[in-house]
Amino acid sequence: SNIRYLKVRIGAIGDDLYAIFLSDMSEQRRFEAMRRDFMTNVSHELKTPAGAISLLAETIGDAADDPDAVRYFSGRVAKESTRLTELVHRLIDLQKAQDADTMLDPKRLSVLAVARKAIAENQVQADGRHIALELHYDGVEVPLHAVPGEPDAVISCDEESITTAVKNLVENAIHYSPEHTTVRVATGVRDGKVRIRVIDQGIGIPAESLDRIFERFYRVDPARSRATGGTGLGLAIVKHCVADCGGTVSVWSHEGEGSTFTVELPLAADQTPLVAAAPADG
Ligand code: ADP
Repeated sequence: SNIRYLKVRIGAIGDDLYAIFLSDMSEQRRFEAMRRDFMTNVSHELKTPAGAISLLAETIGDAADDPDAVRYFSGRVAKESTRLTELVHRLIDLQKAQDADTMLDPKRLSVLAVARKAIAENQVQADGRHIALELHYDGVEVPLHAVPGEPDAVISCDEESITTAVKNLVENAIHYSPEHTTVRVATGVRDGKVRIRVIDQGIGIPAESLDRIFERFYRVDPARSRATGGTGLGLAIVKHCVADCGGTVSVWSHEGEGSTFTVELPLAADQTPLVAAAPADG
């Protein structure tokens, strides 16, 4: 895999052969190939729902005098357009995360506030599937609303990046879990780093897929993922967003038992609490 592409010019001066290495093309070619793959994937992913929509529209036209059929096919059109919109939003998120140098706005953030926001944005989805969302700090369950003076850690991050990352992890945890299970967001400080773990009791990820799931468009089960609205971009976005904050993301999983995604971030130099303690009630 470490083949280097070298542009070589061979010539002869008198009887001596000489070779000039003009440029090392390996990086550039790899980048080009990646970009081409990405564009192929993007157009494929966009073409699928777009094609379905035009086909469905035609079908509706043909079935104009059958109200049940019209209702059914309109529902499918709505579903495919939602999918298209979702894809476009995800592509924009990915683009933002990849181009981050230009838009990053790192500031001091409370890790609990970030986790709570990510949880809140997934609450409706979780309730709909009877999945309990729990928040923990240093091994202790904490409420989903801020508590004055509670233990917390401060990170220095672009707020949108880190919130998007944790939100996507919680979204996946819910998505790939059966009903009546628990998704736990476990925060805290460990070995001088802030840790945010998203732990589910879901279907898990096969061992052979573990090192591929952060790739753009990779899905363990494309049919299942697409049917349930997946784009294969969620974890690629997570990876870029976490990197933007100077952190790393890793995964542990066991099929049938569940998955744990771990985000590790540097502690902010200034750990002054962000939420001022409210005055005691007396
Ligand atoms: P998708 O939009 O398909 O969910 P992601 O990039 O978010 O795309 O995830 C890539 C793949 O990793 C998913 O298709 C799924 O197979 C697997 N995956 C991600 N998170 C989980 C999880 N919490 N439990 C089980 N599988 C997961």
